[in-house]
Amino acid sequence: MWTVTSYVLRQKLAGRKQYPLVLMLEPLFRCNLACAGCGKIQYPAHILKKDLSPEECFRAVEECGAPMVSIPGGEPLMHPQIGEIIAGLVARRKYIYLCTNALLLKEKIHLFQPSKYLTFSVHLDGQREEHDLAVCREGGYDIAVDAIREALKRGFRVTTNTTLFDGANPKSVRAFFDEMMDLGVEGMMLSPGYSYDKAPDQKHFLGRARTRRMFRAILSNREQNWRFNLSPLFLEFLMGKRTYPCTPWGMPTYNVFGWQKPCYLLQDGYAETFAELLATTEWSNYGTESGNPACANCMVHSGYEASAVNATFSSLGGFLATVKATLFSSYRDEEALRLLEEPQAPVNPLVQIMPNAEPAQSLQETRA
Ligand code: SF4
Repeated sequence: MWTVTSYVLRQKLAGRKQYPLVLMLEPLFRCNLACAGCGKIQYPAHILKKDLSPEECFRAVEECGAPMVSIPGGEPLMHPQIGEIIAGLVARRKYIYLCTNALLLKEKIHLFQPSKYLTFSVHLDGQREEHDLAVCREGGYDIAVDAIREALKRGFRVTTNTTLFDGANPKSVRAFFDEMMDLGVEGMMLSPGYSYDKAPDQKHFLGRARTRRMFRAILSNREQNWRFNLSPLFLEFLMGKRTYPCTPWGMPTYNVFGWQKPCYLLQDGYAETFAELLATTEWSNYGTESGNPACANCMVHSGYEASAVNATFSSLGGFLATVKATLFSSYRDEEALRLLEEPQAPVNPLVQIMPNAEPAQSLQETRA
């Protein structure tokens, strides 16, 4: 927290309007799962074979200068030099979130040393049934939970990251939070589902109104022991209590193609350097207010969490709101309790994944 605070204050003092907070470093797109809501493994085989070298990763991290590095993918544990990449980033004193589905975590854990700089961010999309359905893999939840226990036993920092799609059951999500806290994870990260063009399942991405309603039901009337690994103002944004503009430069993406324009979700070209990304992206074309239909329903953390962090440090009001949200708010809300009792839509069948299949063209009807 102190690292982020001092970093953001330095940016403010230097008068920088656009600064990166978290680098999203994708060292490969290969994965050992085929989740319906993810578009990464739909790339052709010659792209899926590519890896960023450790040197390319270090160059991107140094160029960007963000204090935190999130490593999604693909599944980073499938990268042949992932141990070397992590050791190099720890040596550079970057706070790393290695995002993994944990299927390979027990097998590869010997490649890593516990460090305050390294956190395994384990992908779990809910309780056993919900997670296995989301990742299209029976038994995935049990493997991940077993790996979390092993990592905690060995002294590693562990958090979870959860993507919620339309139809998620708020009661079950709240029960999942209890399970994760009992398991001993340090914090939980949440985001509404990313609307990847390439994702095989296009039916379950949330529109903005439905996102706010769902997160209001889930995050109001909180249990005291729930810990989230997210800015409290970003959580209020998800609950519909705040509005922010998208600041995609706050979480820039670097992968085998280069610096991705403008964000983690969209691919409107690539830049060779971070400076070129900042200088040549038409930022006014993006974000909900821009009128860009690709951004109309987006509330993902890679677009809006950096906005919430920036708001904390932009005014006394933002700072006091963050302190209040962190220390004093349990978000008592009778209407949210009623939302928890609403009947849920039946659970949908698993989406069949076909490599390189064309996605269904049904975005409009679901983006309400
Ligand atoms: S609104 Fe979402 S899709 Fe659009 S630029 Fe921001 S993060 Fe990307």
